[in-house]
Amino acid sequence: MSRTVAFIGLGHMGGPMAANLAKAGHRVIGHDLDLTAVEAAAGAGVEPAASVTEAVGAADVVITMLPAGRHVLGLYDDILATARPGTLFVDCSTIDVADARTAHERALAAGMRALDAPVSGGVVGAEAATLTFMAGGDEGGFAEARPLLEAMGRKTVHCGGPGAGQAAKICNNMILGVSMIAVSEAFVLGESLGLSHRALYEVASTASGQCWALSVNCPVPGPVPTSPANRDYRPGFAASLMAKDLGLAAHAAQEGGVRVELGLRASELYAAYAERVGDAEDFSGIIRTIRNRSGEAT
Ligand code: NAD
Repeated sequence: MSRTVAFIGLGHMGGPMAANLAKAGHRVIGHDLDLTAVEAAAGAGVEPAASVTEAVGAADVVITMLPAGRHVLGLYDDILATARPGTLFVDCSTIDVADARTAHERALAAGMRALDAPVSGGVVGAEAATLTFMAGGDEGGFAEARPLLEAMGRKTVHCGGPGAGQAAKICNNMILGVSMIAVSEAFVLGESLGLSHRALYEVASTASGQCWALSVNCPVPGPVPTSPANRDYRPGFAASLMAKDLGLAAHAAQEGGVRVELGLRASELYAAYAERVGDAEDFSGIIRTIRNRSGEAT
């Protein structure tokens, strides 16, 4: 069934996601504060809206893909009054679990329905429609959103009630941040022991060290030709986004009194690294910091 979707936030992720929805036959009305992003989406079949209220007023479903919780909640304050009653609000941004729950509450209080549905898979996954969606909310909202999510991704998991999608996302990315540091440290240790990158890769990628950080996003150039290390660490998944996600995980752990010692350390290391490189480097570029610091220590 073809739906009318207001898509707010047409950046690195939202732009190609909206384009895939349009390609699947849905009417997609797009809005972004950045006019260049709107123009790019328009070239891919997304109808530009003159204002966010115009986009939302015509829609059955509102999808948001924004930087952080404050953007989502600020936008909800502006648009909940103008949406048609019963509109389904699907937030695909990565935001704080508490903010996601607040977004659900505000949507429901305004007579709308809500789902948090953050994604994994990066810009490449957004372009190829191979994202994984992790959804939180009630069964009805999930069932309605599912065909739309499936037009933008390959796997869709209903994780539980409000905020459960965000919870799954930050737990997953805490695994990823910690494992990228572990893989990078192993390569730098291997270098100091005279072990070639190729040899360590061939062993670890088929042994118990195997993980996504190694076998897909390998932090050294060579073994995985498509990894960002082969293009001077151009993202990919920017260091600033990893720092953000680890910050969300650290915050949730502190709120819940959970001792995530490696998660907290990874959050500190990525915060310092991202402060230097921002979104100019892929998160796997942290290997250069580890290598440089090792040089200092010897
Ligand atoms: P981005 O900065 O490229 O895009 C965000 C867009 O939102 C920008 O174009 C910005 O102009 C727009 N925007 C901000 N406030 C707005 C408002 N009030 N109204 C309309 N537009 C507004 O970011 P991105 O890389 O597309 O990431 C979006 C979200 O997806 C983030 O929460 C991020 O953590 C998450 N995410 C990103 C990746 C990735 O690899 N880039 C992967 C998974 C999840």
